[in-house]
Amino acid sequence: MSPQNITVLGSTGSIGVSTLDVIRRHPERYRAFALCAHSQVDKLFEQCQVFRPVYAVVRDAALADVLRGRCQQAGLTVEVLSGVESLEYVSRLPEVDAVMAAIVGAAGLRPTLAAARAGKRILLANKEVLVMAGELFMQTVRVSGAVMLPVDSEHNAIFQALPPDFHRGLSACGVRRILLTASGGPFRNTPLSALHDVTPEAACAHPNWVMGRKISVDSATMMNKGLEVIEARWLFDAAPAQIQVVVHPQSVIHSAVDYADGSVLAQLGNPDMRTPIAYAMSWPERIDAGVEPLDLFKIGRLDFYEPDFERFRCLQLAYDVLHAGGTAPAILNAANEVAVAAFLEGALPFLGIPRLNEAVLQAVPVGGADSLEGVCAADAAARALATSMIEERRFA
Ligand code: NAD
Ligand code: MG
Repeated sequence: MSPQNITVLGSTGSIGVSTLDVIRRHPERYRAFALCAHSQVDKLFEQCQVFRPVYAVVRDAALADVLRGRCQQAGLTVEVLSGVESLEYVSRLPEVDAVMAAIVGAAGLRPTLAAARAGKRILLANKEVLVMAGELFMQTVRVSGAVMLPVDSEHNAIFQALPPDFHRGLSACGVRRILLTASGGPFRNTPLSALHDVTPEAACAHPNWVMGRKISVDSATMMNKGLEVIEARWLFDAAPAQIQVVVHPQSVIHSAVDYADGSVLAQLGNPDMRTPIAYAMSWPERIDAGVEPLDLFKIGRLDFYEPDFERFRCLQLAYDVLHAGGTAPAILNAANEVAVAAFLEGALPFLGIPRLNEAVLQAVPVGGADSLEGVCAADAAARALATSMIEERRFA
């Protein structure tokens, strides 16, 4: 059999690099067909040299010229494209078997939706797209026959612990609850009074995982777990009350499913994203992911705590927007993207993130989320308001 062609959206990021590592281990099974990055031309050029993709995509025409020149000099035949339309193009081409959706944030919406419409196998890391447009996505996947496989470690664990026919409904499968584990991030035990002065460096220093900066900050506020609650709601058609967040500081249990007969099935492993990436790529088979075997003797113990919804206000906001429905999750997601970017630039204190998110949620009206236009309009309104609130230094 010829290798599967994979388009990697966000190939220069943390998930993208781990994906390429798994591809490199299995050249007979996978081929990097298109590599897509935003602005890191040097890194993308190096990836093109190693993986020899058919396409490479960057943000704009100027960056594409730079990359094209370097590729030509190096004798590479890669076709260099730019812009969102090109991301969509390399996600829906007939030769593409699977699309790794690993762009961070709302920027991944259009290309991932293009992959869904074209009926591709979607390896979904980019949780923000499901948070923004879960209804639209799941509907598109149903119509096109696309296959959506979760890469987020928790959702990949839940997927592994659910029966193969979970699409007929969680209750029908005897599922009582999903137990969504959370490390609690770097500030699980930091006194509340010290949180105001947290620096971006401290927020990005996750105790167990090495990740991109946006998701690292989201982990520190636990917005990440909130986004994951919403992601689980759509992926597994779960009611909010069926999703229980469990703080588990060791990040060894990646999540679990609690069944009606009292059985709890969990997936365990070292905190290495190559495990869920490889499982999404090879499902229903399993392949070597280059991950160290789990040494339970070295781990010794596993701890569990209830989440603190007051300390981690963003987690509560996620449940609130699920209950509100419509575009409320898209509004929260957009506000949070602006808030995190401002925090990373030093324009907003750490505790300003939940405050800004809440203020934007209160001000932007919620509409229906069954069209791309509706979702994008809510996203734009929330971004504009969040940006102006930061400029006014409302939460400084
Ligand atoms: P990252 O910041 O390391 O990488 C992001 C990638 O997206 C880069 O390749 C960048 O070039 C690209 N990108 C950014 N903006 C873009 C734009 N406007 N257009 C095109 N490309 C753009 O992020 P990451 O940690 O790899 O996370 C990627 C996604 O995966 C996020 O949605 C995150 O929530 C999710 N995720 C990550 C992890 C992890 O361990 N890193 C775990 C679970 C889920
Ligand atoms: Mg996760």
